[in-house]
Amino acid sequence: MTHLSTGDMLRSEVASGTELGLLAKGFMDNGDLVPDSSIIAMIQQHIADPSGVLLDGFPRTLIQAEALNEALDQIGLPVDQIVYMAVNIDELIRRLSSRVVCKECQTPYNLEVDRPIKFGICDHCAGEVIVRDDDRPAAVKNRMKVYEELTAPVLDYYQSRMNVVEVIATGTPDAVFRKLNEAIGSDVPFN
Ligand code: AMP
Repeated sequence: MTHLSTGDMLRSEVASGTELGLLAKGFMDNGDLVPDSSIIAMIQQHIADPSGVLLDGFPRTLIQAEALNEALDQIGLPVDQIVYMAVNIDELIRRLSSRVVCKECQTPYNLEVDRPIKFGICDHCAGEVIVRDDDRPAAVKNRMKVYEELTAPVLDYYQSRMNVVEVIATGTPDAVFRKLNEAIGSDVPFN
């Protein structure tokens, strides 16, 4: 499947200085959501992928969920599975405050459990490894508020319509990956 991460797509628009990137940057740095219309237009360009898509970070509002339904209806593709990775707020804050990412290829690292081999340098592309602006404490606090207000209702929306697979996503990356594989009936090896 093609991995479609709206966050990664937006960060690459910001890095290339496109019109969408310039619009998105302010929202992203504050931990706010980018307007629905821009996100929906961006995702619509990629959704009709014959190998199927794994949506990551989308839909994040009820309007986006409705737009996804319409887009999938039009191309005759179903939502096969929804996975909810459940993590409590304290653990989320701990993970975000120890996360760093490669500025070039966006590989994420975690300073507690998965550091780059050379400090500040990406293992894969030798790009600079930095703290995301939206992983700074003020933005993280706002992201939690935005999640409660706008994104938590999306979980209720899907839970009332179809089976949502819940993975308690605490523990090491390896343990979470094993739980995820079990939950979705996959046997892909870790790394
Ligand atoms: P992420 O990498 O998924 O945490 O996304 C980083 C930031 O990109 C978010 O805090 C939002 O500002 C923006 N973003 C990503 N996906 C969406 C979305 N589906 N709707 C609105 N904004 C988004």
